[in-house]
Amino acid sequence: MKQGQRHILIVGGAYAGLSTVQNLISILNGKGCLASPIPLSEPKTLPSIKPRITILDERDGFFHTMGAPLAHSSSSYASTAWKAFNEIPSLGDNGISVLRGRASSLNPADKVLRFKESASGSEREVEYDYLVAATGLKREWPVVLGSLTRRDICLMRKGSLKGWKM
Ligand SMILES: Cc1cc2nc3c(=O)[nH]c(=O)nc-3n(C[C@H](O)[C@H](O)[C@H](O)COP(=O)(O)OP(=O)(O)OC[C@H]3O[C@@H](n4cnc5c(N)ncnc54)[C@H](O)[C@@H]3O)c2cc1C
Repeated sequence: MKQGQRHILIVGGAYAGLSTVQNLISILNGKGCLASPIPLSEPKTLPSIKPRITILDERDGFFHTMGAPLAHSSSSYASTAWKAFNEIPSLGDNGISVLRGRASSLNPADKVLRFKESASGSEREVEYDYLVAATGLKREWPVVLGSLTRRDICLMRKGSLKGWKM
């Protein structure tokens, strides 16, 4: 990490989180805000050192929630409705880090977020300068698919993983 570099932590990498990241990428690359129905003001100055950006999500990718009814009924569609974060070129191309885990608590005074890391199951902490909370609503099966990985979605569609019901 460079001296003086700020850290922006985005919790939740779905519609809100990813559109925040894509806007930040565009602004930091001098291309301004992306088209939006909400008028957005362009920043007058850009930081001399680009901030570091991290997404934290308990899923391993973006799931197109609005397509959930079709994903329930079409196996070919189900796998495409899930895009792993490492398959989204703009994230890798712009050095966006992705942490996989579930945010459990926040200390805004010290700017520290605690989360349970998916791979190890252990509690970890991450410091930030700016935090974007984009964790959406908690929706249960069958409104959305009850999985946290793309692999599980494909297995559920084949009926080989518990939890997929037609
Ligand atoms: C069937 C269906 C159809 C819909 N159709 C439309 C439509 O046509 N138009 C429309 O505008 N809206 C529609 N909606 C609503 C739309 O899906 C929501 O408005 C949208 O999902 C909100 O996006 P979001 O990014 O705020 O949150 P979400 O999509 O809920 O995403 C939240 C993200 O945060 C992550 N997360 C949650 N908690 C934690 C945590 N503690 N730690 C780490 N990560 C966490 C989740 O894994 C997820 O990736 C529809 C919804 C459904 C279910």
